[in-house]
Amino acid sequence: DLPVIYAITPTYERPAQRAELTRLSHTFMHVTNFHWIIIEDATKKSDVVTDILVQSKMNYTHLCALTPPDYKRKPKEPNWTKPRGVLQRNAGLQWLRDNRTPEDRGVVYFADDDNTYSIHIFNEMRWTKKVSIWPVGLVGGLLVEKPIVNSSGKVSGFNSAWGMDRPFPIDMAGFAISLPHLLSHPDVKFSFKVKMGHQESVFLEKLTKREDLEPLADNCTKIYVWHTRTEEPNLKFEQKLKSQGKSSLD
Ligand code: UDP
Ligand code: MN
Repeated sequence: DLPVIYAITPTYERPAQRAELTRLSHTFMHVTNFHWIIIEDATKKSDVVTDILVQSKMNYTHLCALTPPDYKRKPKEPNWTKPRGVLQRNAGLQWLRDNRTPEDRGVVYFADDDNTYSIHIFNEMRWTKKVSIWPVGLVGGLLVEKPIVNSSGKVSGFNSAWGMDRPFPIDMAGFAISLPHLLSHPDVKFSFKVKMGHQESVFLEKLTKREDLEPLADNCTKIYVWHTRTEEPNLKFEQKLKSQGKSSLD
């Protein structure tokens, strides 16, 4: 049997949520032996997320983990001021620790709900021995942020343009961990206390060394994942309707 891909996706309520999750589920439906762990930033499971999961007919686990208000980004705060998805990803990791054993073959991937994923990356990450890594498009102020692979097929550096003090200057979407490797590190998780932009690096430092990384996507020359972000929809007339107690969805 193929190793199972466990994709951990934090998600939160906003106007584009159903659209984002529809696109995401329609990508994931093309991947075999896939288990979607979706964690709502909420106190209870929503109809939107439940609907999408049921309709997808995928293997899934539906969880909730609310971000405390102090850690939530305020409407006018720039997006880099507060880390997002911390408790949700940790809830996903905890579920794996509670429900899977090192004998279960699988790989764990952090798949945010607004990124763009090629199915190629799933078929490659599936065979991760410990920690695999690959380029991520449209992030870090570059068209692509990627590991540099030397002639012996080892990661010798990164092309990142900022945060060079990060031991692993790569986005959340650029690596995967084998399930047995994750389970052999029971304390590894994300934290609000980490320096801004260092979340991935601090996490990976506890799991691997640069020379042990397994480069995918043709020695990190291909882009199979993009850190796309969705524009805030213009709902000015919807707000007008709302003030009259109405909605265009009525
Ligand atoms: N997220 C969340 N709660 C929030 C904001 C974001 O659960 O209050 C989720 C979001 O759905 C996504 C992940 O955390 O899966 C990363 O957030 P976002 O895509 O906004 O971050 P960025 O693209 O700016 O890194
Ligand atoms: Mn995002």
